[in-house]
Formats: sequence, structure tokens, C-alpha cells
Amino acid sequence: MKSSRITILGSTGSIGINTIDVIARHPDRFSVYALSAHSRIAQLAVQAQETNAKVVVVPTDHAAQLFKSCWHSKNAMPEIRVGARALAQTAADRETDVVMAAIVGAAGLPAALSAAQAGKRVLLANKEALVAAGSLFMAAVRDNGAELLPIDSEHNAIFQCLPHDGRAFAPTAPTAGVRRLILTASGGPFRTKRWEELHHVTPEQACAHPNWSMGKKISVDSATMLNKGLEVIEAHWLFAMPPERINVVIHPQSVVHSMVEYEDGSVIAQLGQPDMRTPIAYGLGFPDRIDAGVGLLDLALAGRLDFEQPDFKQFPCLKLSFDALSVGQGACIALNAANEMAVEAFLEGRLAYTAISSVLESTLTWHAGLPTRTYQSLDDVMALDAEVRHQAVTFLTS
Ligand code: NDP
Ligand code: MG
Repeated sequence: MKSSRITILGSTGSIGINTIDVIARHPDRFSVYALSAHSRIAQLAVQAQETNAKVVVVPTDHAAQLFKSCWHSKNAMPEIRVGARALAQTAADRETDVVMAAIVGAAGLPAALSAAQAGKRVLLANKEALVAAGSLFMAAVRDNGAELLPIDSEHNAIFQCLPHDGRAFAPTAPTAGVRRLILTASGGPFRTKRWEELHHVTPEQACAHPNWSMGKKISVDSATMLNKGLEVIEAHWLFAMPPERINVVIHPQSVVHSMVEYEDGSVIAQLGQPDMRTPIAYGLGFPDRIDAGVGLLDLALAGRLDFEQPDFKQFPCLKLSFDALSVGQGACIALNAANEMAVEAFLEGRLAYTAISSVLESTLTWHAGLPTRTYQSLDDVMALDAEVRHQAVTFLTS
């Protein structure tokens, strides 16, 4: 069996760490080619030593110096590359077969797109890349023979519930016979609270997800359910499904990861523990099933599985996501960029939790006043992204 050489974009994050965990269980199948980090450079050095990575990518020359000072191994130091351009080039290197796109936010888009353009197997965790540039990204996958495997647990579940003959696919039309995609959502830490009760919520409270352990940004997104909104947009692109055929249901136990409903009334679901190593192992091993280090699912212990309808009043960010998707790509870019700004401000104590949705709303209203544009290149997407971030600053303080 040929061993796959893996590049992990964002190896120091929650998905990156879980990916290294799964890879380490299969030294005969996988080796690490490259790793990247943004701020946790000492951690990157430890990871590079443990995985014997050939290349690391860091954001600045200062970070490169720091990496060198953190290198305590007798083994040869990996090649150190610097900057966003080097990151995109590394994702396309001939020496790598599989790229795990696990950078958070639109910052991950250029390198993820570069991997798709180079025809790699792309394991996509970085949902913001699809939200901002869905049509561009899917076209790059199709045109360059890349294999796209969704890592987001809901989309990984849906992929598992669709027919695919052991081949990854990037469809241009909904799969025949499918009526609806049903995305499950835990409802986050504030599921039982009313929106008005949440004004004084702290970052610690918002990040205390009941079922999943994740990076801070996605944890806040899960609390506001903007995460589910981003996932609706993600599902729209991944499965070529119109928004009205994507349904969201709250399922507090996070055991059913999502479902596909077929025309004959059959509903196929994927179940498992809330552990990201399952979808990561699925993407790495596909079409084989490989050990992920995840224990048995004890349904008797789970006891019951509940489902409820999300309330748009309680989760205004979810409604705003459906609105953005119905307007089009520019609105989705705006929603995502404004949300990144708002969540960062909330995490830094500069914005109230309940103001996150106001910032998104103001941004979408502002965007609606712009002349219509098309987004045919990465530059087009990143230009609007930058414009939104510039504009959103004013909404953060108003
Ligand atoms: P984390 O915040 O834990 O990790 C993010 C990673 O991206 C880190 O390695 C970080 O580097 C790096 N990074 C941050 N900013 C930049 C930047 N500007 N340029 C380059 N690299 C950067 O996030 P998660 O692992 O939780 O999430 C990663 C992606 O996966 C997100 O898009 C998220 O929505 C998605 N996802 C995550 C899930 C989860 O369970 N965590 C589940 C489903 C999807 P450093 O740490 O060194 O600063
Ligand atoms: Mg998810």
C-alpha cells in the first residue's frame, strides 16, 4: 500500500491536533509532509519533532526565528517557509497527496483553493472557505480532478449517507432521489435561554460547548448558531442542494450527526460519538474505514435522542444566514467576514454577545446597497472580504 503524505494547514488547532492523533495510529498508511501554524509556534515545533514533518509554514520571519529557538531535537530541522504565499504553494507541492484544510476563517481560503487547483485530496474542515467562495472552490475541485471530502461532522455524515461508489464527488446537481438534507445542531450552550437573557454572556460561557471541544471561534458560532447557518451554505455548495431543501433540526445529544431524506420517505442517518476523529479518519482512509481511536457508541447510555425546531427569534444569526444565501455570494462573503470581526471583538471583550447579530444585520444591509458584482476569482472574493472588514469596524462601535 502506498503511504499518503499529508499536509495539515492549521496543525496547532483543534482539528489539526485531532488529525495528527489519527495519523499517528497508522504509520504504515500516512506520513506528515508539512504543518502550519499562526501563533502557537512552540507547539508547532513539538508537532514537527513528533511527526518528523519535512516542511513547516509560519506567518512571519519573527515566527521563523522563534521556531528555530524552539527546536530541541537531534533530527534535522524541517524546511521553514514564511507567509501566506508559501502556505498556498506548500498546499500544492508535488510531495504532498492529501491536504487537511483546518485553518479557521477566510484566511484559510487561498491555501485550500490552491490544494484543490493542484488536484489534491482535500479534507475540508475550513467551512468559511466554501461560504466565501463556494462556486469557485467547487469548480476548482471539478476542473482539476481533486477529491473533496467534507470533514465538518454534519457534511461528513451526509456524504456517508449519500451513494458514492467509493469515489469522492463534487456534484453540479442534487443527487437523484434525494428530497432533503437534514442538518442536526446541538443548540449550543444557550439552547434553553431566550435571546434577551444573553446580553451579559462571557466568552467563557459561550465557549463552553455541551458536547464538542473546538476552537474558540467555532465555539462562539455554535452558541449563536451562525455555525449552523455557515453549514447550510456549506451544504448548498458541497451537495449542489437548493437552500429550501436543506433543513436544520436541533438535536441536543449530538449523536445523530445529520441525515439524508429520500423521495420514498427513507431517512438515512449517520450516528457516532461527538469526536472529530471519526470524520477525520473517514476522510483520511476513504474509501477504507480505519481506526480513529473513538470508543463504542453506547446508545443505551445515551438513553434518548431528542429533536426540536430551531427558533429564529432565539437564534437570529441562523435566520441571517438563510437570508444571505438567498441574496447570493456577495452577501455570504459579507456575513462571514463581519462575523469573524464580531466574534473576535466579543472574545476580546469589546462587543456584547447579543450585538454579534446586530453587526451581521447592519453589514448585510450595507452590502445590499452596493452595486451587484460577480466573484470569478480569488481576488474578487478577497477584495469584498477586505472591504467588509473595513466597514464592519464602524458597526462594532455603533
Ligand atoms: P482552532 O482555532 O483550534 O485552530 C485554527 C488553526 O488555524 C490554528 O492552527 C491556527 O494557528 C490557524 N490559524 C488561525 N488564523 C490563521 C491565519 N490568519 N493564517 C493561518 N493560520 C491561521 O480552530 P478549529 O481547529 O476548531 O477549526 C478549524 C476549522 O475547522 C474552522 O474553519 C472550523 O469552523 C472548522 N471545524 C472545526 C471543528 C472542530 O471540532 N474544531 C468541527 C467542524 C469544523 P495558531 O493556533 O498557531 O494560531
Ligand atoms: Mg459542524
